[in-house]
Amino acid sequence: MPSLKGQFLNLFGKSFLAKATVRSVEDIGAQYRRLVLSTDVKKEGAYQPGDKIQLLLPSLDVRTYTPVGWTAEGETEILVFRHSPGSPAGGWVANVKVGDSFSFAGPQRSLNIPSGPVLLVGDETSIAVAAAYTRHRPGLVAALLEVEEEGAAQKAATALGLGQPRLVRRGAEGALSAAILELLAERGGVSVGLTGSGSLVQRAREVLREKGGPAPRIKAYWVPGKTGLD
Ligand SMILES: Cc1cc2nc3c(=O)[nH]c(=O)nc-3n(C[C@H](O)[C@H](O)[C@H](O)COP(=O)(O)OP(=O)(O)OC[C@H]3O[C@@H](n4cnc5c(N)ncnc54)[C@H](O)[C@@H]3O)c2cc1C
Repeated sequence: MPSLKGQFLNLFGKSFLAKATVRSVEDIGAQYRRLVLSTDVKKEGAYQPGDKIQLLLPSLDVRTYTPVGWTAEGETEILVFRHSPGSPAGGWVANVKVGDSFSFAGPQRSLNIPSGPVLLVGDETSIAVAAAYTRHRPGLVAALLEVEEEGAAQKAATALGLGQPRLVRRGAEGALSAAILELLAERGGVSVGLTGSGSLVQRAREVLREKGGPAPRIKAYWVPGKTGLD
């Protein structure tokens, strides 16, 4: 069923929503789809790494994704993690093709991390935000991703220019906290950003609190049982 927000944007959003057209669709394994978009947002300074866009899907659901870069010509890209074929975004991305258009709100500020070195902790949905910061701050970004399939995540990271994130398998006892502490010890003075599932953000925050780490910037991207978080 369409969301109220989606119905509202569909009825009244014409004056403030932007428009995107899909320029390419690329499968990165079975789990990820990368879409290159050309948009009518061409304003200098409209975009910062960590921004989000909110897509109005044909089903009139609204879902949030992270644009990676934004050129002066209005081109950007998103990486969709295909966690479920039956969800609104999952159904949409399975069928999306070159030439399709959609409306969106943004780019809007979401994860704003102070300048300088950064450690980003997240999951499959965080590859794009880590890539966005990496492009903007080359050599200053370390990414730690807790994922189901490390090989697939590495391929997606490589495709987006993220290089070699530290990958830990979801469910591996103690792996996330050990990796956070190791990366903090290696890279003193980093700002920390936590994204991905609510439970991951919670666990990572606890580790930082217990060990006296820096106060992180936090943005949960999804929570089990909740739809279209944001
Ligand atoms: C600021 C922001 C930036 C984001 N950037 C990205 C991005 O760049 N790439 C990306 O892939 N996602 C990103 N997300 C997450 C994405 O918006 C959610 O995963 C969203 O719920 C997907 O919509 P859906 O229609 O597939 O599922 P929904 O209809 O929202 O949810 C259906 C069910 O699936 C569960 N679910 C949602 N996401 C996941 C998941 N990842 N794994 C397992 N179960 C899940 C929900 O909890 C719910 O139970 C971002 C979210 C936010 C808030």
